[in-house]
Amino acid sequence: MRLNVKDGVLNIFCNICVWTGLVGILRFLNRKKTRILMFHSVSDKPTFMPDSSGLRVTKKNFEKRITYLKNKYNIISLGDIEKKVPNKVIITFDDGYVDNYTHAFPLLKKYDVPATIYLIGCTESKYARNYLTKEQIKEMSKYGVEFGSHTLNHLDLTELTEKECNSELKNSRTFGIYKLNSVAYPYGTSNKEIEKIAAKYYQYGIKGDFGLTDGKNMLALNRIFITNSSNLNRFKCEVEGIFSFIKNIFRL
Ligand SMILES: [Zn+2]
Repeated sequence: MRLNVKDGVLNIFCNICVWTGLVGILRFLNRKKTRILMFHSVSDKPTFMPDSSGLRVTKKNFEKRITYLKNKYNIISLGDIEKKVPNKVIITFDDGYVDNYTHAFPLLKKYDVPATIYLIGCTESKYARNYLTKEQIKEMSKYGVEFGSHTLNHLDLTELTEKECNSELKNSRTFGIYKLNSVAYPYGTSNKEIEKIAAKYYQYGIKGDFGLTDGKNMLALNRIFITNSSNLNRFKCEVEGIFSFIKNIFRL
C-alpha cells in the first residue's frame, strides 16, 4: 500500500503516542467516559460513494479493530450507556449500507459484539440496492444489533424549518419492524432546538466527530470518526479521541 506524506507523518505521530504510553494514560483518565465509534461501510471494494469520503473500512481492518477493542475495552450497546462500567465503547454504523449485513455482521457475531445501525427512512432512491433490506434488519436484530433513525431523507437538520425538522425526526421512528429509540443527526449536526424536538421521539441523540462523551446530555452524544488506516496505532489514538480533539481545536 502506498502512503502519502500526510499519512506517513500521522502514523509516526500515532506510533509515538502508543509507544510512549500516552494512549494507555488517556484510556485510564477517560475510563468513566464513553467512546461512541462511527463506522459507515465495511467493504474491500470501493462502494458507490467516492473513496475520498473516507467512509469505507476494509473487512481486515474492521476485524483488527474489533479484536483490539475486545481486549482493551468494554463493548456495550447504546442502551447500556448509563451503566457504570469502565472504558465503555459503543459501535455504530451510519446510513444502513448492505455491507453492514454481508461483511460487518458476520464479524459482530463471531466476536459477540453489539452494535447500532442508523437507518435512513427513505431508501427508495436509485441507490436502494446498496441499503439493508427489512429481512436483513430483522435477522440482525435477533443477534444483538440495534437500530436507530438517521432521519427520513438524510438532510442537514440545522438548515430546515422547525416543522420540516419535526417531520424528519417523527416519521423515521419506525422502520417497519419496531420503534427506534435513538437518532443519529445527519452530518453530525444539531443544535439545542433540534435536540428539543428529538427529545419528543427519542431517548438518545448522536452527533458527529466531537470526541469522547461524558453522557451528560443524552440528546447530544459525541462520536468519534473511524478511518481505514492499516496502522492499528492510529486507530488506538482515534478511540481515545486524539484526532477529534485536534479537529475541534481547528473548528473553534
Ligand atoms: Zn449519514
